[in-house]
Parts: sequence; C-alpha cells; structure tokens
Amino acid sequence: YDELEPFFDKAEKVFGTSGTAWSIKGKVVGKGRGGNAFAPDRSDDFPLPAQKNTWSAQLFEKAALEVGYHPYNLPSANTSDSYTNPYGAQMGPCNFCGFCSGYACYMYSKASPNVNILPALRQEKRFELRTNANVLKVNLTDDKSRATGVTYVDGQGREMEQPADLVIIGAFQFHNVHLMLLSGIGKPYNPETGEGVVGRNFAYQNMTTIKAIFDKGTYTNPFIGAGGNGVGVDDFNADNFDHGAAGFVGGSPFWVNQAGTKPISGFPVPPGTPAWGSKWKAAVADTYTHHLSMDAHGAHQSYRQNYLDLDPNYKNVFGQPLLRMTFDWQENDIKMAQFMFDKMAPIAKAMKPKYI
Ligand code: SF4
Repeated sequence: YDELEPFFDKAEKVFGTSGTAWSIKGKVVGKGRGGNAFAPDRSDDFPLPAQKNTWSAQLFEKAALEVGYHPYNLPSANTSDSYTNPYGAQMGPCNFCGFCSGYACYMYSKASPNVNILPALRQEKRFELRTNANVLKVNLTDDKSRATGVTYVDGQGREMEQPADLVIIGAFQFHNVHLMLLSGIGKPYNPETGEGVVGRNFAYQNMTTIKAIFDKGTYTNPFIGAGGNGVGVDDFNADNFDHGAAGFVGGSPFWVNQAGTKPISGFPVPPGTPAWGSKWKAAVADTYTHHLSMDAHGAHQSYRQNYLDLDPNYKNVFGQPLLRMTFDWQENDIKMAQFMFDKMAPIAKAMKPKYI
C-alpha cells in the first residue's frame, strides 16, 4: 500500500475525486465527518469534499449506526464542485442527473479519459486521436518478441497499418485479452492443463442486493443520483472481520449507492406482484418513488474454471472470433453472498420499510 498510495493520490487529483479522508499522515481528520474508520492512512486529502448524500443514503447511514456499524461517505469520481485537475482539464459540479452509469456526462463531472486526460494531450503537437478506428491486431516481429505496430480499420472501413516502436494495449479488460489472443501475444490459457496465462484468472464481482420499499410518505426519488455517490459500510470488507467461522475468503462493502434508477433497468415491486399486466403496472407506479436498493459488492476470486478464450463459433463484423467468457459462481462466492446478506439485512430492517 505504501508503494501504491502516491499513485492513488495522483490518480484522484487527475480524476477530481470527491470524498472524506479518515486520516492524513497519521492524523485522524474524518471522525464524525463521514470518514471511513477502516480506511488506510493517506498522504493527502481528497481533492474535493464528499458529494451530498441522497435521502436513501441518509436513511442507510442512520440505520447502519443503529445496528452498530461504521458508515462513511463513499468516495466518488463524480465532482462535488467545479474543479481543475493538474493537467488543466476543467470539470463542472455533478448535478445528480441520474443517468450516470453507462452514459457520458454532459456536465464534465464524471472522471474519464476524455474529460480528464485527452484535453491535455490535445495540446501536444505530436498527438493525434483517430476516432472510429478498430484495431484488429498488434503486429509482431517474426519471432514474436517485439511489437511493430497495429493493423486497424478506420472510420471509412479501410484496413490500415500503423507502424510503431511501442504499442500500449489500453482497451480495458475484455478487449485487452481479445487483442492479445488475436495477435498471438503470450500463451493462451488452457483450463485442462492449467498452462498458459492469457485469459486465465478471470474474476468478476460478487453482488448481493436487498431492496426496501417504504410507505407513500417516504420519497427516495430514485430518478436522481450519481454513479459513485452514497454511504458505505466496511465492517465486513477485506480482513476487517474474523473469517474463522465464516468458511470463505474475501469480503464486501455494503452501500446505498443511488446511481439513478433508470427506466426499465429498475422497477422493484412488492413480493407477490405478478410479473406483467395491469397489476404489475400499478405496483410499479406505487413503489418506484418509495424504494431504495442496498448492495454488498464484494470480492471475487480467481478459479481454474473461469476464463476467457476465443469463441470457436461466433465472429465479429471483421470476421474475427469473438471473445468467449466461461464463468460460474463457486462455493466461496455463494457462501460469501449469504453471509453478507445476513449482515446487511439488519440495516434494511432498522429502516422499518413496508417490504424487504
Ligand atoms: S450524475 Fe453522473 S452523468 Fe449526471 S451530472 Fe453527475 S457525474 Fe454527470
């Protein structure tokens, strides 16, 4: 952590992260202010104070305190105020528009390369951004010891080659693996023998959700919210608790993270509601503005049987094999999810909702 911390600090300043520090250089500053008692020491504060909390997060915080847990403001890469990062890139304050996950931010309030880094790169005379380009493969020397460039399809559908001394594969988890497999870089993982590394150790996220539905006097307005905003509890995260009797490894934070419940994606209804028709519609209209969702969003381990490889049947628009994910939940994941449900349910009950 000591080696990594300066890079976390730098990244937070580049991204305009909002949050409440617990301790800075050994001095506790976050007690009673929404800091996380389980957080490790920091070299500096977050560049912006924590965002305001939605009503649902405030209900969660109060209930978690009643249960005896240690709620804290979730740090978020959404801006609580206007901000200029060390590269001179400017961000506006987040307005809790509710369309955060899966959408670009029209307020420049959500950290991403196009908001926080590309504006600075564009000042570089030698920098060129080629949009709508799809890299098909990284080209290699005959002995595969070095990259010599990339082959890509440009915005007009023409196949192009870009020579290069250095190629950085920065296309996120799946596409990085896909490009490496398509390019013949490294040894593909073989789940039968356990040999090979490309596509091995695929790990996902382990999510357990409790929804609470309140009476009509409690408005949670789930159409507002921001991607990372909310209140969390780390009492059962990582090694913050004794795993002795638990029978699993790993842990999980709990949180109310009201990111914005968008049409179709989130329509909770009371137990016993039919899955379609006028009764379902009435239940949706009745409950939508009166519900909240809390999640345990936990660790997921690597397993021999969870991996990525090239699909033997299906191809993309360029005629290349698609990436295939082979995945299933394992005993440790299920035990952890059940444990987390048992530890999170008291928070939901302390809120005294109409239904859980
Ligand atoms: S909720 Fe997300 S998308 Fe909306 S203004 Fe805030 S950061 Fe931007």
